[in-house]
Amino acid sequence: MGSEVTGTPSRPALVPAPSPEARIYPILGPELLRDLRDGGYRKVVLQTPAGLLRDASSLSASIRDATGIAVVTLVRACFGACDPPSPEEAPGAEAIVTLGHAPIPNMPLRLPTFFVEMRQEGRGAATLAADLARSPLPRRLGLVCSIQHLDLLPVLAKELEARGFTPKVGRGGQRLTYAGQALGCNYTGAEEVETDVEGYLFLGTGRFHPLGLAYAVDRPVWALDPLSGELSEPLDREGMIRRRLLTIAQAAGARRWGILASSFDGQNRQGMAFALKARAEARGREADILVFDRLDPRDLVGRALDAYVCTACPRIALDDGEQFPKPILTPPEFLSALGDRPLLPYRFDTYA
Ligand code: SF4
Repeated sequence: MGSEVTGTPSRPALVPAPSPEARIYPILGPELLRDLRDGGYRKVVLQTPAGLLRDASSLSASIRDATGIAVVTLVRACFGACDPPSPEEAPGAEAIVTLGHAPIPNMPLRLPTFFVEMRQEGRGAATLAADLARSPLPRRLGLVCSIQHLDLLPVLAKELEARGFTPKVGRGGQRLTYAGQALGCNYTGAEEVETDVEGYLFLGTGRFHPLGLAYAVDRPVWALDPLSGELSEPLDREGMIRRRLLTIAQAAGARRWGILASSFDGQNRQGMAFALKARAEARGREADILVFDRLDPRDLVGRALDAYVCTACPRIALDDGEQFPKPILTPPEFLSALGDRPLLPYRFDTYA
């Protein structure tokens, strides 16, 4: 491990390259049902994100009724394609149907997995571009998109170009299926075009991705909701980073560190966990590696540890840090707390 623990790999190809076990569908429709039937599966497990929990039982019934396959539904919400159910979680399941996510191409799959991206149609690209042309957005603009709205990306880029913008879309690294794709732990597509743009526009709903993007790039970030056409104010990147520097300062004197390592297939950086432990010990600190699948802050209450560093999903520390009993840092923040890397420029924990 060098002085950093994250990198930004690049891949020139523009086409998705998932493993043979991964199949992609824009919506839960006849193609998916046909392929499930043709696969001859006796039992599949359905995995839904938090936003679709309400519909999980009816979606499960619709798959079961149309295919005759036994369907079991995973209770825990899935946060990404990174946390597929293990064989122990869904005994006997022969395939996985996961809703709302694209594959992570560099993550091996243990079972055939049907990714249903739940693509959505937004307002017309011409209308959106006309509104954006009247906004204060910079003309040299990086575009980043949730997978639900990826169909909008090329058409909106064209409409923006016709109105004097220079839109840029980066390919990104091996963890991303699509150019321009936002993944909460990997904004390498956006980072690739950073020197060419004055700001970024995220296309999608919610604040999760714009927040991650703002940590990753040193440019203003706006968010456009393609359904309502609403454009946000630029995110307060300075304030976000100031709060992270404060957390790093609170943790810097910690003597006993807990190094958190997940067993989920796409969040498992246990090699990094051991490397960070060695770093801590080289600086005269104690460090204990704590393993889990899904992390519950209550499981850390009462431990004789002063601070944590999380090698699993970087958003645990950044978005949920206040739920934990002690300061919790990302790996680059941890190196800053040890004095092994400068505090600034702020480094997002890119999961490569
Ligand atoms: S590691 Fe976190 S941000 Fe990345 S895909 Fe998984 S849940 Fe999403």
